[in-house]
Amino acid sequence: MTFESPDIPNHKGFAAPVLPNGELASSASAFTKTFIGYQATCSCGWADRRRFPATPEGAKEAEYRWWSRHVPPLAAAAPPVELVIKSNLLCERIVQLAGERPLAALTLLSQVESWQRTLLDQAVAGAKEAGATWAEVGEAIGISKQAAHERFRAATTAPLEE
Ligand SMILES: [Zn+2]
Repeated sequence: MTFESPDIPNHKGFAAPVLPNGELASSASAFTKTFIGYQATCSCGWADRRRFPATPEGAKEAEYRWWSRHVPPLAAAAPPVELVIKSNLLCERIVQLAGERPLAALTLLSQVESWQRTLLDQAVAGAKEAGATWAEVGEAIGISKQAAHERFRAATTAPLEE
């Protein structure tokens, strides 16, 4: 059985049975007769190191580790779902507008670009001030830490960490 948090919709947690060779069973259907414990895992590839007993309580503890160890940092970095929905809707509407009235779409896109650039610099500076690494900044926008540092170093004085 998997578990999910609405804050991070692309992640499914799983209390994976640990097989006798130490490997983690990838699904409940791989449940063999013998397993030696439970470890929390996620559909994204994350796996907790801590092993719990092969009991229903152990499975509960492993599940709790997913909620307590994996979800919070991801949820903190995830935008609110309703804003993601609005952003996707805005994109769809602009695509539609570009098909019907391309000059109007251009005007709107240049407005979006003007505040988007400023807000991006401000968000990077805020993230760095709050202690985010360049790797975390890069991950948040889907680029490497080097690329994030190159692109935004003017927005902040923070150096590239090791
Ligand atoms: Zn995950």
